[in-house]
Formats: sequence, C-alpha cells, structure tokens
Amino acid sequence: MCRKTNSSAQWHAACPAPVCWWAIPLAMAMVLASQWTGGMCPAAQTRPNILFIMADDHAAHAISAYGSRVNKTPNIDRLAKEGMRFDRCFVTNSICTPSRAVIMTGKYSHINGVPVFNRFDGSQPHLVKYLQAAGYYTAIVGKWHLGSDPTGFDYWNILPGQGVYYDPVFIEMGVRRKHTGYCTDLITEFTLKVLDGRPKDKPFFLMCHHKAPHRPWDPAERHAKKWQNVSIPEPPTFDDDYSTRSDAAREATMRIDRDLTARDVKQTPPPGLPPAELKKWKYQRYMQDYLACIDAVDEGVGQLLDYLERNGLAQNTIVIYTSDQGFFLGDHNWYDKRFIYTESLRMPFLVRWPAVVKPGTVNGDIIINADFAPTLLEAAGLAVPQDMQGRSFIRLLRGQTPADWRTAMYYRYYHYPAHHRVQPHYGLRTLRYTLVYFNKLDQWELYDLDRDPHEMNNVYNDPAYAETVKQLKEQLYKLKKELKDEDQFADNPPKDNV
Ligand code: CA
Repeated sequence: MCRKTNSSAQWHAACPAPVCWWAIPLAMAMVLASQWTGGMCPAAQTRPNILFIMADDHAAHAISAYGSRVNKTPNIDRLAKEGMRFDRCFVTNSICTPSRAVIMTGKYSHINGVPVFNRFDGSQPHLVKYLQAAGYYTAIVGKWHLGSDPTGFDYWNILPGQGVYYDPVFIEMGVRRKHTGYCTDLITEFTLKVLDGRPKDKPFFLMCHHKAPHRPWDPAERHAKKWQNVSIPEPPTFDDDYSTRSDAAREATMRIDRDLTARDVKQTPPPGLPPAELKKWKYQRYMQDYLACIDAVDEGVGQLLDYLERNGLAQNTIVIYTSDQGFFLGDHNWYDKRFIYTESLRMPFLVRWPAVVKPGTVNGDIIINADFAPTLLEAAGLAVPQDMQGRSFIRLLRGQTPADWRTAMYYRYYHYPAHHRVQPHYGLRTLRYTLVYFNKLDQWELYDLDRDPHEMNNVYNDPAYAETVKQLKEQLYKLKKELKDEDQFADNPPKDNV
C-alpha cells in the first residue's frame, strides 16, 4: 500500500498518540483526520505547515543564491541561507501546464493526461486531495493554469488562464472578480490574507503561485525604471549558431534577435542598428523587464517570510521556492523554455525547514518535479501512494543521499508546433550527459557536460562517444519503459484547451 521509509520526523516525537504517521494508509488517515478536526489528536498541531511558493518561468540563473550574473534576489536568497539549495532539480516536461500537473500528481505527463496545454482531470487523486483528507487546510492563490477548477482545496483564488499583470481578474471559489493593482502584489496580499484567516487548529498547505515573470513581462510601476540604465551581462552562449545541433534548434522560433517582437520589448529600437547591435538591444530590453518582474516576486517572498516570523510560524513551516520550469535568458540566443537543455530543464528549488534542513546546505542530487508530491506527503507524515512515479527526497533534506538515489532522469516534451516550433523530443539527463532524441525528426544529440557545460558541442556522431551513446540509450529505454511511457501521446497529443 505504501512505500516504506526509514525517516522519522522530529515532530513525530512530540505526538503523544501511538501512531506512526509515516505508515498510515490514506483511508486510515482520513478517519484520523476526521478525529483531528474534532481536536482529539494534538499531533495535528505539530505536523509541519507547508508554504509552496512557485513563480512562472523564473530561471535559477536569475536568483542570486544560484550565482546569478544578472540580478539580486535578497529575499529568495534567505531560503538558501536558512535552508537547502537544490542544484539539479529538473522538470520532466518544460512547459507551464504540464509541469503543474506533474507537481500535483507526482506522475509524468503521459500518465497524468496533461502533455500539452490541455485540461487537467481534477477527479484523479493528487497531492492536495491527500493532504486535505489527512486534515490539512489547503489553499491556492494565483496562477493555476490547469483548465479545470481546482479540486482538493478548501480555498482557491486563481487567475483565469495566464492572467494579466495589471488589474487582473481572479476567480475566487468560482466567482470572477476584477481587482485593482499589480498581479504579483495582489497574489502576495491574498496569500497573507489566507495565512491570517486560516483555521488555526489545522496545519496548512498553501500554494502561492505567481504569474511573474512570465511573458509579457510587465513590471510593477515602482520597478519599471530600475533597470533602465543597467547593462545586463550577456550569457556565454549568446551567439550560439546551432552548427553542431540537429534541425530542431534551427527550427525553433524563440530567438532573441529574430523572434522577439516590438510588442515584447515595448519599444521601437533605435533606427539603423546593425543586426548584431539590434540583438544586443533586444536582449537588454527583454531582460530589463524580466528582471523587474522578479523584483516584485522577491519582495513578496520577503513579506511572506516576515509574516511567518512575526506569527511564530517560521519554525514549523516548510517554505519552498520554485518555478514551474527554467527559462532561456538569452542563452543560445533564446527566450522561452521547452528544450531539455539545462537553462530550461533546471528549476530553482529552495527549501527552508528548520526542524529538518541544515541551514546553508547545497544538494547536487537529481530531483524532479514528480518528486515534490511524494516528498510533501512524507513530510506531512503520510504514505506515498504506489502509483506516484516520483520519489520522496526527505532523506536528501536530512543530508543523507540514499545509495540507490537516481543518477539520471527522463524527460519528454510534446507541445508542437505551438507556440515556438520546438520539436517534440525525449531524452535522458545524467550527472554528466544530456542525451536527446527528436522523435519526429529522428535526430539525436549528445552533450558531455564535463567538457561542455553549456551544451554547445553535440558529440552524438563522435566515434569517441560511441560506447557512451550505446550505454545511455540502454538507460534511456529502460527508464522510459519503467515509467510506462508507451508513446501514448507521441503522434496525437490532446487538443489545447486551457
Ligand atoms: Ca511556466
């Protein structure tokens, strides 16, 4: 029924009830939860609260705790300083809606039914339903983007679809209402309201999901001019000409120089700029707005952390900061995401949990977004359902990497041709290599990250790597099979309807 775990939590010792929360099946948890609501078990008060803060398209390399060359994020950095930074947190399908479905279910796109921008079937079991059934007060504020109404939440107040930055409409428990103000600030404000008004006799699970810094990158007025006269360094791969890659990179329509529109950069470029200068100019304009959007997110994180401290909640609240995927910040001459390449694949993932996580620690093991649900269930003392494909990384949070922890992860992207003509592909990311197969093109790429950390030199056809290719392919097909990817959506993914 449940995966065995050797972990035990400090709060467990504080519970006088003779119950092993780590091993109770869901049905029993539901019975116990109904007792907790009657105030019969004081242990309910000692289970950790969970504040899950997720931005949209916030690349790890635009967070100073991750060594950003382009900006400072002092509040998000507090989580790294007081908690753990994960350096290899990877998304299994690098695009908004699919990543959110993976986070909810702990299952890959081909199992949870959301490979592209299609509707999430909220009748399936998922993380939040399990937490709610176990007695957690569950709420979400901000970007949801899963098409169907949220299920498993006691309270929800979400943006319709992508939402807008200024004077956004929110849907609160089914009721649409237009608000005045800046979206990021409103999401922070509504999250604080939830914290304040929550039932105090239950632990909470609260998702604070920002729209920012997603396109169209409209900053708050107070940040609009902050970056105006700043020269933002260009990434080392800015002039990638894709010469060693498959046809996929050349086909993709997300280039800084060619595909960013005047609407995207919100200004007409100075007349007569030569192409190389125009590219630089567009990059500056793009990044100025992108980074200004992050400034408001960072301030919001600071307000939430301050609230937890002021209200004595910091000790017993797990705080996570992440993003639904990474993003290209001019890397390879791109904006957007989708590709398996590192800037898009990597999610920032910072966790503060004073009872468990040693401050200022860094973890280099491979974790994936399908692991979030199992981890949070285990943190809440619940069994991990066997059909979840991710694995709890609670032991990683304790600083103990299990000997059998994964050294490779499986990736698959489907969304084509919209919106940027990124060819469907699947592949393997290991500690050293990126192997990718563009299935419609029948073309492969291999990058040796030890020698080529920026993935610029495709060595798939280099005879020196023939044996490596063979081994990695075996590993790829094994993992694909284990994860039950039987090409369910290979040729015919569901229709977009989010
Ligand atoms: Ca996104």
